[in-house]
Amino acid sequence: MHINDAVFLEDLCPKFRLRQWRKSIHRFTGKSCIYCGKPSESIDHVLPRSRGGLSTTENCVPACLSCNGDKSDENALYWYRRQKFYDPRRAMAIRAWLEGDLRLAIRLLEWANPNFKLSNQNYGKDQSKFKAA
Ligand SMILES: [Zn+2]
Repeated sequence: MHINDAVFLEDLCPKFRLRQWRKSIHRFTGKSCIYCGKPSESIDHVLPRSRGGLSTTENCVPACLSCNGDKSDENALYWYRRQKFYDPRRAMAIRAWLEGDLRLAIRLLEWANPNFKLSNQNYGKDQSKFKAA
C-alpha cells in the first residue's frame, strides 16, 4: 500500500515531515506574514519556545524575518498592538489561529488584505456566507 509506505517514510524521516508541515503553515496564508502581510520567510512561535511554546500549528504562524526578529520573546499580541501596521482584523486572525480555528483566521486575513490569494480553494467556498454576515 502506497499510503502506508508514505506514513512509514515520514516516521523514519522527521525532517521530511517537518518540512511538509512548515510548507503547509505558509500555504494557509498564501505565504504572507500573519502580522504585516509581507512575504513570510519564517515560522514564528507565538508563545516562544523559551516559555514553553510548542511547535504545533496553533502556536506557529507564518512571519517575515523582520517581524519574527523584532517580536523576539515577547507576547505576540502585545507586541503586535504597538506596530505601525497593526490591523485589528489581523489581531483577530492571530487569536483565531491560536485557538486552532484556522478557517476563521484565514477569512479574517482575507478581509484584512483584499489581494489575499487563497491557495486552498476549499476555504474560498465559504466566502459569500462571510460577506453576507
Ligand atoms: Zn511581517
